[in-house]
Amino acid sequence: MEQLLELYQTMGISPAVYSHGEKALERLKDRFTRIDQIAEYNQAKVLRAMQKNRVSAACFAATTGYGYDDLGRDTLERVYADVFHTEAALVRPQITCGTHALALALSANLLPGDELLSPVGAPYDTLQEVIGIRPSPCSLAEYGVSYRQVDLKADGSFDYEAIRGAIGGRTKLITIQRSKGYATRPTFSVAQIGELIAFCKSIKPDVLVMVDNCYGEFVETMEPSDVGADMTVGSLIKNPGGGLAPIGGYIAGTRACVERCAYRLSAPGLGQEVGANLGLMPSLFQGFFLAPTVVAGAEKGAIFAANLYEPLGFRCVPDAAEDRHDIIQAVELGSEAAMVAFCKGIQAAAPVDSFATPYPSDMPGYADKVIMAAGAFVQGSSIELSADGPIRPPYAVYFQGGLTWNHAKIGILLSLQMLVDAGLVRL
Ligand SMILES: *Cc1c(COP(=O)(O)O)cnc(C)c1O
Repeated sequence: MEQLLELYQTMGISPAVYSHGEKALERLKDRFTRIDQIAEYNQAKVLRAMQKNRVSAACFAATTGYGYDDLGRDTLERVYADVFHTEAALVRPQITCGTHALALALSANLLPGDELLSPVGAPYDTLQEVIGIRPSPCSLAEYGVSYRQVDLKADGSFDYEAIRGAIGGRTKLITIQRSKGYATRPTFSVAQIGELIAFCKSIKPDVLVMVDNCYGEFVETMEPSDVGADMTVGSLIKNPGGGLAPIGGYIAGTRACVERCAYRLSAPGLGQEVGANLGLMPSLFQGFFLAPTVVAGAEKGAIFAANLYEPLGFRCVPDAAEDRHDIIQAVELGSEAAMVAFCKGIQAAAPVDSFATPYPSDMPGYADKVIMAAGAFVQGSSIELSADGPIRPPYAVYFQGGLTWNHAKIGILLSLQMLVDAGLVRL
């Protein structure tokens, strides 16, 4: 321990900050054990799916061109479908990011005259242009798809009566965002999502439900696809890529929905049959294999952050004691200066670009200036230790990731150190 403290001091972490962290950790033993149990279950689930689908060295071969009969790609999609307990899955490096996967799922399954409903308030920032809430060329609105929204009640619960009133003849698809994104509302558990889906389908049995599962994969033993979602959608540079996938997105769901997504991604008639894997199969398979333990480490980091910052008077969402349904931790820092200091600490703790200084700037798809700290092996990867947030009240920083729990811990300690050094926190 003496040795560790010395090393930490060379990295800028003071004994005071370190011991503040150790105090927080003493309270977390039982919770960390529970997280390890969930990871063990999910590890077995992924392993079983890989064995069942006979993953072999041949699956790792690179393909180019059209990619007809791509064994690796087709096997990976069956592995995902088995893990999510769905009929089909589309898992592709040609899906460039989470927003792309979500836009694909929506645009493939909504036709002119249809209505899209969000019963959980405003969707994630980048989805607003996809839908046309903020006007954009090629938005769903431009193609004649209308949008309705029911906000959450003040306590963060579903407004069932308003949702009942909003589901009408034109309601074709309901979109549910699991994670809070850049909002300080609660993240929903899979069980809560299941209740909401059951309610919506009791009113309109043929309505389609898509769940934005970004940051939620493997945090629980169940996924939204286990509780009635027709499409479960996410990014491979978040949880399911396990930090190794360099690009990609997935849509796991019913055969009918996934087929439409594939037609929209490539072309009508071609669908899932084309799309070369470009040599990415080893990292997509191995990343998915590692994802349950990587997610567990990231979740420990999030819980540690809440237990470090909340006693210092900063509001944390979720709070220090709450159960987790995603890997994101929001810490309301109250000022731009504190956001910058926090992000500097996360940046300084990175294995890559640790010498860079984050500052607020404009980002495509976001209305406010955003500050981002990330020193990742995969650019923009937020399963790796990262922090970001829009510069607007309550000046919340959204902290997530860490490929290992130990790295997450170092990053969080350094973030606190920067706040202390800037005179914004006194221990
Ligand atoms: C990250 C995220 C997205 C968008 O994913 P990108 O890969 O950044 O395009 C959508 N929804 C939620 C909830 C997210 O966290």
